[in-house]
Amino acid sequence: PYVIAEACVDITDMSCVEECPVDCIYEGDRKLYIHPGECIDCGACEVVCPVEAISMKRALPDDQAHHAEDNERFFTQP
Ligand code: SF4
Repeated sequence: PYVIAEACVDITDMSCVEECPVDCIYEGDRKLYIHPGECIDCGACEVVCPVEAISMKRALPDDQAHHAEDNERFFTQP
């Protein structure tokens, strides 16, 4: 799946939300989150993000790996 990383924090532009064909992007306190089970890997969100915060999970830079974990937590918390 795709993951939203550091550049989205406190920006939450929302362009990706409008673009996502399966509505799998959710709003958190400080950033947006892509549901890993619902994302169909279409890439539509990546190209519209004005701050280039979105990438494939496997393409996430090492220093932003914690965003993948944060993403998991967001969807598994009670
Ligand atoms: Fe939605 Fe496609 Fe982005 Fe996945 S890659 S979050 S399905 S727009």
